[in-house]
Amino acid sequence: MSYVTLNNSQVAVKKIICVGANYPAHNAEMGREEKPESFLFLKPPTALIPGDKPIEIPPFTTNLHHEVEMVLLMGGGGYRLKPEQAVEQIQGVGAGLDLTARDLQQRAKEHGLPWSMSKGFNGAARVTDMVEPGEFADLSDLNLTLAVNGEIRQQGSTADMLLDPAALICFASRFFTIEPGDLIFTGTPAGVGPLKPGDVVEIDLQGTVGAEYTVQEEMDVSKC
Ligand code: ZN
Repeated sequence: MSYVTLNNSQVAVKKIICVGANYPAHNAEMGREEKPESFLFLKPPTALIPGDKPIEIPPFTTNLHHEVEMVLLMGGGGYRLKPEQAVEQIQGVGAGLDLTARDLQQRAKEHGLPWSMSKGFNGAARVTDMVEPGEFADLSDLNLTLAVNGEIRQQGSTADMLLDPAALICFASRFFTIEPGDLIFTGTPAGVGPLKPGDVVEIDLQGTVGAEYTVQEEMDVSKC
């Protein structure tokens, strides 16, 4: 079972909904127009490795990228939610990593193929311990940072998101019924880049939630 931790208790994770292209500066670095049409993708719950175990680089990629994101845990849900209903259903807030096999994703983009393999593999999602949304004054005004070996690589504000939490949940619920235990990854600011064995990655949201992970090669690659 995949789970996140909220107030020291484990909450089972259902599905993981992610938004692409939600920060203009990241869109610029990816060569997209500044305001592309919003789009969603899914990670299976098995992509999430709970806790702060090392990040393992799988054998099928030579370009594993970090993407730090604010992550929302849904406590309730529904289909076609109104924005005000949507925010009321947020149960937990944390920081997370949308780990991306950029080389596989690039090939998928070139051939018009899905991103499931490049973003949904085992270990492609990490989430810090979460807190209740009331711990923050405004989810649309939080600092999000990622450092590698002590050097800041990503620094952004959730104020820059094209779809804020209410709009994003509302948008997602037009396509997917939102259920308790769903996680929503809200997009990454600029500064994404590769990780290598030995790196230490620190992520932080507003100095309130954070985690540190070491990076290593995947150990057991002997099976099929
Ligand atoms: Zn992402």
